[in-house]
Amino acid sequence: MRRVSILGATGSIGQNTLDLIARAPDDYSVVALTGAGNIPQLAADARRLRAEIAVTAYEDRLEDLRAALAGSGVEAAAGPQAVIEAASRPADWVMSAIVGAAGLAPGLAALQQGGTLALANKESLVCAGPLMLRTARQHGARILPVDSEHSAIFQALVGEDTAAVERIVITASGGAFRDWPIEDLGHATLDQASSHPNWDMGQRITIDSASMFNKAMEIIETWEFFGIDPARIEVIVHPESLIHALVGFRDGALMAHVGPPDMRHAIGYALHWPERRSLPVARLDLAQIGGLTFRAPCDARWPALRLAREVMMAGGLSGAVFNAAKETALDGFIAGRVGFTQMAPVVEEVLTRLSDTARGATEITLDNVARVDHLSRETASAVIAEKAG
Ligand code: NAD
Ligand code: MG
Repeated sequence: MRRVSILGATGSIGQNTLDLIARAPDDYSVVALTGAGNIPQLAADARRLRAEIAVTAYEDRLEDLRAALAGSGVEAAAGPQAVIEAASRPADWVMSAIVGAAGLAPGLAALQQGGTLALANKESLVCAGPLMLRTARQHGARILPVDSEHSAIFQALVGEDTAAVERIVITASGGAFRDWPIEDLGHATLDQASSHPNWDMGQRITIDSASMFNKAMEIIETWEFFGIDPARIEVIVHPESLIHALVGFRDGALMAHVGPPDMRHAIGYALHWPERRSLPVARLDLAQIGGLTFRAPCDARWPALRLAREVMMAGGLSGAVFNAAKETALDGFIAGRVGFTQMAPVVEEVLTRLSDTARGATEITLDNVARVDHLSRETASAVIAEKAG
């Protein structure tokens, strides 16, 4: 029996992970499930899967969680520190699927107990890539990518010499506004930005797909995780979302990973690695699909892609500044305070104002990241207020 924990169990990735685990209940013993506001879901899953402990990140929801778990024998806990403690309980495999920078400290705690961390939380790598990799090394832990593009790259590299890699191409669906006239983007509403043409995901990453901030984060994630020179990382718009990434080798070969847009593939690959087991995902009928199309990404439509390049160039803690500013701009968009096309200018302004701070801090430690994250959120809020006033 493998001991598994799922951080962010109530979200889109978390629920897809539980779907796979629940299909083979005798193979897994569930240690911890964590969530935030959706107490009924968290408690129901913890009961069903006989978890040792269920944790809500919201301190003031402890009594609700206790009540929902009454008589089940599942421990209840609440608050950010309790999430970190649950993540550090010994487990063979931990899914990191909290959304946002809030996933960093729990992911690090999981790495410190030395098992495998299946990493969906790309923000951890954007904010603190070197810290994540160093922590894994120090504790004999392993990080397996779960983001579909990064799982695809990882799979294309099996058995290959990484020195022979010439380039990595990650695909982007183009999101909700791929075919909109650029001049209409300023009026895009929250509802419109919250529906994805191909993938069913949490709301924040869906909006980030429309703005391409998601792809911007994924370029940085590729750079941090695979250690490849930014100039060798390309993005191509591929509206069908069937090819997830391609790895180009020095002999001119391109190895593409093709599969249905179903996160259970990447999650299942990380769950069963290094084996490949049968997974409940659709099999593609290529004759019926007929064709795959590609286009170059347009910088004017998606300025976030350029910002990602600037972040990699600046290095240091720029990723942490970038992510926190992006999260704050996104909060503003969701709250109706920031227009869709204003998110990138807000992030750019924060990067400019904090460029010295980002460069200045030498070591990427959790404390330094937390400090810069906080400063970036404050600065982004100020920029948003200035733009509104
Ligand atoms: P989601 O919004 O559906 O779920 C987020 C989870 O995090 C929930 O369980 C929620 O309770 C928890 N959470 C929210 N705020 C928290 C906080 N402050 N502290 C602790 N827990 C908190 O998000 P998602 O779409 O499942 O995405 C999760 C992560 O996976 C993100 O980093 C996202 O970028 C990444 N990812 C998602 C997909 C996808 O298909 N959904 C694909 C690739 C990568
Ligand atoms: Mg992705």
